[in-house]
Amino acid sequence: RAKDLGKGRHEVFATGMHTQIVKRFQLEIDLHRAIEQQEFELYYQSIVSLTTARIVGFEALVRWNNPQYGFVSPAEFIPLAEETGLIIPLGQWILQAACQQLAVWQAQFPTNPPLMMSINLSGHQLTQCDLVDYIEQTLQETGLNGESLKLEITETVAMNDVETAISIMLRLRTLNLRLSIDDFGTGYSSLSYLHRFPVNTLKIDRSFVSRMEDTDEDAAIVQTIIMLSHALGMDVVAEGVETAAQQAKLHSLGCEYGQGYFFSKPVDSKTATALLDKQFNNMMFA
Ligand code: C2E
Ligand code: MG
Ligand code: MG
Ligand code: MG
Repeated sequence: RAKDLGKGRHEVFATGMHTQIVKRFQLEIDLHRAIEQQEFELYYQSIVSLTTARIVGFEALVRWNNPQYGFVSPAEFIPLAEETGLIIPLGQWILQAACQQLAVWQAQFPTNPPLMMSINLSGHQLTQCDLVDYIEQTLQETGLNGESLKLEITETVAMNDVETAISIMLRLRTLNLRLSIDDFGTGYSSLSYLHRFPVNTLKIDRSFVSRMEDTDEDAAIVQTIIMLSHALGMDVVAEGVETAAQQAKLHSLGCEYGQGYFFSKPVDSKTATALLDKQFNNMMFA
């Protein structure tokens, strides 16, 4: 009896695992096809100056519209694209699409300094050997300056292999690209390494911003990250700003930029263009 029960349990477990593996495998096949069929779309979320309240640039955030599953979150497919190496062609498509869009916006909405585009780089992309060449080529094709592009590298990826990350970052800086550390505060950061990263910006993770008004500890963490960044010559973007109170508090703490639902959710290129239109028309008739 006990043996039978055990066997039965084993089978249930195996079936569950089997289903998971099949599901994952199917997702992987779909991901391959999605790249060929161009099922991806870039959404853009504005990054806003907390001093002038103006849009200074956008972060490109990839979306997958799967005809069968509908919308698949990047939190779900980016890790899979990483594991399977599909992030390389997908990442190249993202870079190209984001650069083309930025070139259009810079021509349509000239500002000084020009509008910027932030692009997320995953771990696998960072160590891709032709990354620098590829970016250089994309800059040439789109006529953009390196300074207009900001590459976001998560703290976790940067800390995973500090020496390698630093040497790649230095090579990226030879193209005048800007760099930022994404989701700062969620990984294991050693402060003794932070100053060695040749980065321009720290992005405070959303989790601290969202708790900032609840606990004094979180407010203190946000304040400390801002002070630390400035001491290291970096500016700060606060992620996940959802309320006017958070915006005001961050501004009073000296945080330069904000990003979050309070300003805009990530939106398609047409809607993002309308945001810029509104800002520019307001300026002309002010
Ligand atoms: P991330 O780079 O930290 O991007 C910020 C995420 O926070 C986005 O989620 C954005 O929609 C969300 N967010 C922004 N403001 C708010 C807010 O006020 N409240 C809340 N609750 N959420 C907010 P998303 O687009 O789902 O992307 C998740 C993650 O997937 C990104 O985190 C990034 O790590 C990765 N990812 C997205 N697009 C790309 C890409 O093109 N390439 C790579 N390698 N990774 C990407
Ligand atoms: Mg990011
Ligand atoms: Mg982030
Ligand atoms: Mg994040």
